[in-house]
Amino acid sequence: MKFGIDAGGTLIKIVKEENGERTFSKYLSTEVETVAELLQQYPDAEVALTGGKATYLQSLIPQDAFQSIEFDATFKGIQTFLEQLNHPLENYIFTNVGTGTSIHHVKGEVQERAGGTGAGGGMIQGLGYLLTGEADYETLTALAAKGDRDDIDLKVKHIYKGDKTPIPGELTAANFGRVLHTKETVQYTDADKLAAAIGAVGETVTTVSIHAAREFGAEYVVYIGSSFLSNELLKKVVMNYTVLRGFKPYFIENGEYSGALGTLKLM
Ligand code: ADP
Repeated sequence: MKFGIDAGGTLIKIVKEENGERTFSKYLSTEVETVAELLQQYPDAEVALTGGKATYLQSLIPQDAFQSIEFDATFKGIQTFLEQLNHPLENYIFTNVGTGTSIHHVKGEVQERAGGTGAGGGMIQGLGYLLTGEADYETLTALAAKGDRDDIDLKVKHIYKGDKTPIPGELTAANFGRVLHTKETVQYTDADKLAAAIGAVGETVTTVSIHAAREFGAEYVVYIGSSFLSNELLKKVVMNYTVLRGFKPYFIENGEYSGALGTLKLM
């Protein structure tokens, strides 16, 4: 039995392989002791770790675990998923939208970090809480799905008011930039505020990603990370914005387990 574990800032992702079968599970990072108890039940299992809390988890478990660098593990996991999906890519960007966002360029068998942004899943949770007082992740994302950010965000077309625009009118000119224009007539709901926060995160993540894609001449941006879980709105924003900016988005099913799968495969 083999375990690949990515102990991240918010979530611990676990891939278990046994008799050719692969299963996925996740825990909150605050539940690291629970994960250690699980591993204590299988002292003979082979264990591979990665992520910021890997060394701490190692101190709690009986196995002498293999450890790999998070970026190498994630890359290996993505390559494994892409092979299995029969969707090999030669020159691409991958963007891991976790607690924060990390952006990487891949050419052949080599990956290098191309940048990142503090806009990511942690910002959705933190800003979401500040705007609405809601701390439960599933409640927050379900509420955001009902929101509308049309009266909150300023689009290019709003500035040009029917005139010919030099760039597509549907592009956001200023996230939250329409509020002072609409505040007298509009009641913003918690759902609307959350939708606008997710819009800002999604558009920031996409903008940084496509700049990297342009710099490296890549056509595809592969998006992974737990921030897309139960958050169709974020996925939609990122997908549409990537297409609008002229690139091809690709989402991998179970992609948030890339680090966990990758460290297992590197073992
Ligand atoms: P990390 O490796 O930094 O923990 P992840 O890829 O696991 O990053 O993504 C963490 C983000 O996933 C959170 O910031 C949040 O937006 C989102 N998320 C998805 N499911 C949950 C959940 N059940 N509880 C908390 N956050 C979740």
